[in-house]
Amino acid sequence: MSGVKPAFTKEELLEKDRNYVWHHISPHNDEPLIVVSGEGCWVTDIDGKRYFDGMSGLWCVNVGHGREEIAAAAYEQMKTIAYSPLIQSHVPAIQLAEKISSWLEGDYRIFFSNSGSDANEVAFKIARQYYHQKGEGTRHKFISRHRAYHGNSMGALSATGQSQRKLKYEPLVDGFEHVPPPYCYRCPFGKSYSSCNIECAQIYDSIINWEGAESVAGVILEPVITGGGMIVPPPEYLQIVREICDKYGILLIVDEVICGFGRSGEKFGHHNYGVTPDIVTMAKGLTSAYSPLSATAVRAELYESFRGKDGISHFRHVNTFGGNQVSCAVALANLEILERESLVERSAYLGQQLSYRLNLLLDHPNVGDIRFFGSACGIEMVEDQITKEPASADKVLQVVQACKQQGLLIGKNGDTVAGFVNILTLCPPLITSDEEVDFIAAALIGAFDALLEGKE
Ligand code: PLP
Repeated sequence: MSGVKPAFTKEELLEKDRNYVWHHISPHNDEPLIVVSGEGCWVTDIDGKRYFDGMSGLWCVNVGHGREEIAAAAYEQMKTIAYSPLIQSHVPAIQLAEKISSWLEGDYRIFFSNSGSDANEVAFKIARQYYHQKGEGTRHKFISRHRAYHGNSMGALSATGQSQRKLKYEPLVDGFEHVPPPYCYRCPFGKSYSSCNIECAQIYDSIINWEGAESVAGVILEPVITGGGMIVPPPEYLQIVREICDKYGILLIVDEVICGFGRSGEKFGHHNYGVTPDIVTMAKGLTSAYSPLSATAVRAELYESFRGKDGISHFRHVNTFGGNQVSCAVALANLEILERESLVERSAYLGQQLSYRLNLLLDHPNVGDIRFFGSACGIEMVEDQITKEPASADKVLQVVQACKQQGLLIGKNGDTVAGFVNILTLCPPLITSDEEVDFIAAALIGAFDALLEGKE
């Protein structure tokens, strides 16, 4: 707390927390970490204990904590003007849209919203309206993948392929179909790479035929499934899906909410696979979470169909806070840091360094697979390396807790199907130093050693 006397004791805060705060996801009986400050890759809790933020918050604080120039950009913008709606325009949005378009290396128009879920909802609405205006109004379905997460709002949740997250909110939105994930470690087709004909990609062709191509508007996917367990597809996968979309005149929507802005070791995740999406959604790393902002980037020629002078073909979607000036100014400062400090390149380097150290864990009986995409990592825990039975929730939690005791915060995959919350996730800030890489590896290896010894 660096000399600042807190207004309340920790016990008082915990009591108020119990009485007033509804936490996201974690059960209310947990004793939550009350984070009070952050600097670089580290956060400090109310007891003054420091933790390495091994998940960059929720896969988002790419430039690390405590960046004064981002705070200064927000302050300057707030003093100048904090808000005017994007029904008109403003300078930070104009500059940022141009910048995003150049990061995408394509000709895109940018629609701003507040969250990743918003950005995906916008993509679905734009796709459906686009086909209506093209005279192909029967095209309304979207195909996504089991195990993927696309957001919490009803449409984005419908695209999500994680049954446990959806059960109590159904029925959801009509017109969302799912295909099996490209999951080589547990191939849903019972095959092995590379003698598999990349069935996980070819399946799109079948499902589009079964559903009727004239009913399908889009495919939505992340370059790799991140929160659903760091499921990295075969290298040919995205190209094949792109070709199938082209064959049937279907839009390819790439969700870059996590993979974008350097996380993958390229500017955007899809750049690793040489495809051009029709629509790209993004959030998190866009501002490194210093302020809420998301964007839906749409290929220029799609956008043209919304410019008719008939008074009915514009996009009927307004969002009060979307593209807020302060958030846009924050994003510009954030992207300036990513560029100046070459953090996209650093992300690729971090992934290599981490993988070199963490691959030692493949000898551990409870580690089945380790997967990387740039600097994001998933460690799939099993009870047995031969049977691949998923590790128990208890074992997974023991590793998470042992890391926390050593001052390292890591994550685990979200609910997918019951019994499969067995993948540890790591997504360090892109400024992680070589010494901090050593620290992460030592803490994780120590946590797995403790598991073998049967202690936390
Ligand atoms: N898409 C992906 C791939 C995500 O991981 C998330 C959130 O974690 C979302 C969309 C939704 O983003 P938000 O939580 O900002 O609504």
